[in-house]
Amino acid sequence: MSGPIGTRTKPNQQQPLLESSICASCELPLAEPYGWCSGCRAAYCLPCGRYHFCQPSCLANGCHAGLCVRLVVGGVLSDTWGLPDDPP
Ligand SMILES: [Zn+2]
Ligand SMILES: [Zn+2]
Ligand SMILES: [Zn+2]
Repeated sequence: MSGPIGTRTKPNQQQPLLESSICASCELPLAEPYGWCSGCRAAYCLPCGRYHFCQPSCLANGCHAGLCVRLVVGGVLSDTWGLPDDPP
C-alpha cells in the first residue's frame, strides 16, 4: 500500500507588518496616518484606534483602550504608544 502523505508546511508565514489597507474595525479604507495595534497585528483608522480595545488577555496585561495602537506615518510605526488627539 502506497499512500505518501505530503506534509507540506507553508514557508511563507511571515507577514509584512503593515499589509492591511482597511480598518479592521469599521472596514473603511485606510489613509495615513492610521493606527496599528501591535497586540492584534491589525490596522485601524484613527477614530477606531483611539477606542480600540484588545483581547481580554491583553486587558489582563494592563492595557487600556487605544494603548496598544501606534501611529503609522509614511509606512513607519511610531515609537509612541497611543494615538494623538489632533483632528485631521
Ligand atoms: Zn475604523
Ligand atoms: Zn489590539
Ligand atoms: Zn492591548
